[in-house]
Amino acid sequence: MPIKLLQPEVAAKIAAGEVVERPASVVKELVENSLDAGASQVTVEVGGGGVEFIRVTDNGQGIPVDEVELVFHRHATSKLQNAEDLEAIATLGFRGEALPSIAAVSCVSLVSCSAGEAAGHELQLNWGQLAQSGPKGCPIGTSMTVTDLFGNQPARRKFLKSVSAEAARISDLVSRMALAFPEVRFQLKVEGRTSLATTGSGRLLDALTSVYGPQVAGAMLEVGWEGEGRKVWGLVSPPSLTRAGRSYITLLVNRRWIQSRTLSFALEQAYHGIVPERRYPLAVVNLSVPYEEVDVNVHPSKREVRFRHEDLLFSAVQRAVRAALVASSPVPEVHLERGSSLSPGLSHSSYTGGSSWGQGRLGIKSAPSDHGPKAVEVMPLLRVLGQVRNTYMVAEGPDGLYLIDQHAAHERVLFEQLQERASDKAPLIQPLLEPVVTHLSPAQEERLQGCMEALQSYGFLIESFGERSYLLRAVPSVVKDASEKMLVEVLDLTDSQAPLMKQEEALAASVACHSAVRGGMSLSQQEMEELVRQLEGSQNPHTCPHGRPTMVHLSSNHLEREFGRR
Ligand code: ADP
Ligand code: MG
Repeated sequence: MPIKLLQPEVAAKIAAGEVVERPASVVKELVENSLDAGASQVTVEVGGGGVEFIRVTDNGQGIPVDEVELVFHRHATSKLQNAEDLEAIATLGFRGEALPSIAAVSCVSLVSCSAGEAAGHELQLNWGQLAQSGPKGCPIGTSMTVTDLFGNQPARRKFLKSVSAEAARISDLVSRMALAFPEVRFQLKVEGRTSLATTGSGRLLDALTSVYGPQVAGAMLEVGWEGEGRKVWGLVSPPSLTRAGRSYITLLVNRRWIQSRTLSFALEQAYHGIVPERRYPLAVVNLSVPYEEVDVNVHPSKREVRFRHEDLLFSAVQRAVRAALVASSPVPEVHLERGSSLSPGLSHSSYTGGSSWGQGRLGIKSAPSDHGPKAVEVMPLLRVLGQVRNTYMVAEGPDGLYLIDQHAAHERVLFEQLQERASDKAPLIQPLLEPVVTHLSPAQEERLQGCMEALQSYGFLIESFGERSYLLRAVPSVVKDASEKMLVEVLDLTDSQAPLMKQEEALAASVACHSAVRGGMSLSQQEMEELVRQLEGSQNPHTCPHGRPTMVHLSSNHLEREFGRR
């Protein structure tokens, strides 16, 4: 066959194949248009899983009468002027492809009235062909009705799932849009029933309440981080609240709902070690990134984007979420299995949560509020009773029994000491009578150079001593063994923690980890009491610097139940 240009109808159908995969894609494009038009109210109605009809009505700026026919032409858009605009896209749409693509595979009726115009107008297209056009009275805004989707594409129809499955996809999509735009009042009516209604208050927590219910919303933790022109904020579930899949994770980049394995992984990593394997958090994480650092023009439905500094965003998400989890982490409560006796019960005990994370009971506030107060950790006053396996201290508190991991607890204490002294620019220094010579590998030397200043701020005094050799003249006073391998160990530890924390923090955590009393070491009563007192005095007594719990709790209630006293 000779080469020929495709007829415009054929070309439009091919383009439609990319943009309009299923009813939910139509809803997505129409709602995005409404949001781009500045709507504060968006109503979505669907029938027959969206195949029979989809109507999206908004109170946005409307379409001026002299432009209304243009919107169904390919590459007709009001959102781009020139090629440079593609470098920094601030709107959800920009290609001018959606409406012609939708019109090519359905019957479309458009009713719109633009601000400042006396009356609205109506346009009807059947399979891309203009069927009717004329004035029509309507409020300012736009309403698009799409009927008989894929009626001219039987092959497409066959690939669709059941009516309820397609409707479910639409619900999911509108929910994500509602989470992305809490200031917009969304209404979704499926087969005549309202299935979602948000308030449009502008608060993410309100939108989340509408989508997932008050119980989930009440448990969510606030996330916030800002730096270098980038911002991460949102709500994430505590470790006690997880789901079996990733479908409750909503990642938003500059308010666009995206799919990103990398960022999703960053979020999951923040929960690593504190939720069971193959459990995933509920989360709405917003990233605010300079527009020119995101390329949204890489995927037909714009669900995947490319970042210029993906690694920075990765660690920003991970750090922000981890910080929220650590700040709110209460004392995990020991759960004895029914019927087990105390001794085997304790050794099998777990702190995997359920409702047992018992927020609030110990004076821990972790539910977010509009003002976003910082989580406050209050540790109960404890009386030390003894030590188990030379590793855990046993203590009695106002509500039962506490087991404290001596290493984790000491780590927390030393970490905060180091941080506090460094921030006061008054590190506690221990000069060495005999300087220690340390030889480093090229990689270690690289790392050392990268954190020299931070090391100094914590009390290290290090001098270059020839080829990759260094003289250690002083160490922070918390360090008990100023040996050659100590510095190497601290550098390696810091490196392994780098993605989770800021470098200085990771460094302090490493020094603390290295210097803290180990498990397996026998402690005197006095030493234990001293450690518990110090822990009581710390800011975040319930977790070690890496976010692991310092203590588990066996409540009086539990004890009474186990012994059949209640
Ligand atoms: P794009 O969104 O990429 O510009 P579309 O085909 O989705 O392309 O829409 C084409 C144009 O139609 C938009 O640029 C916008 O000017 C106009 N438009 C579409 N929907 C609406 C709406 N709900 N309100 C106002 N204008 C709209
Ligand atoms: Mg669009």
